[in-house]
Amino acid sequence: ASRRAAGALARALEGIAAALDGAADELGRMDRVAGDGDHGIGMQRGSRAAADAARTAADAGAGARTALQRAGDAWADVGGGTSGAIWGEMLATLGAVLGDEDEVTAAGIGDGVVAMKDAVMTFGKAQPGDKTMVDAMVPFAEELTARLGAGDPLPVAWARAAEAADSAAQATAEMTARVGRARAHGEKSVGTPDPGAVSFALVARTVRGNLKE
Ligand code: ADP
Ligand code: MG
Ligand code: MG
Repeated sequence: ASRRAAGALARALEGIAAALDGAADELGRMDRVAGDGDHGIGMQRGSRAAADAARTAADAGAGARTALQRAGDAWADVGGGTSGAIWGEMLATLGAVLGDEDEVTAAGIGDGVVAMKDAVMTFGKAQPGDKTMVDAMVPFAEELTARLGAGDPLPVAWARAAEAADSAAQATAEMTARVGRARAHGEKSVGTPDPGAVSFALVARTVRGNLKE
């Protein structure tokens, strides 16, 4: 069947939107410590708009932009802020690698995740240790690539990578922010994990449920 990927990706975004809806208050509190407090609501609104756009695109059939690219546009527009722009870039990059038609494969996902991580680092210029979502995304991409390379099935490799992202996100609590809005707050962010790293890890954990055994 055609457009299998678009339908599967729209379902994954639906799960992501539900998870971020549930985490919005907690992410907002985290962003209030050394930010402006809008990370929860931004991720909540952005992911909801992205899921809706992906569903519409998947149902409508082939277009110039893939379902995930359209979802990324909607996330950036509606979510707003730094994280909206970055998640928009991430979905656009992943959408360009995966396309809408062919069933999503382990190799495609592996390549897509690495491209996504590279795009975020090029776009936002943050390095590991700066206390951003990059600190969760780099170990996630590394673990996923290593596990797939060792022959683990995608759901297993993804689960290990999601665990790595989660530990890395929690470990950002010890860091002092060097980029983004939190930078201006200096040591105030120490003791609280970076909200963008925590939300990235949550998304990674949620997507695990969409990968078939
Ligand atoms: P804003 O700071 O515009 O209010 P959000 O609160 O939605 O945006 O998102 C804040 C998150 O964005 C941070 O927790 C951090 O993970 C991420 N972030 C900020 N700047 C960068 C950057 N240059 N590269 C990658 N991620 C970044
Ligand atoms: Mg904010
Ligand atoms: Mg803001």
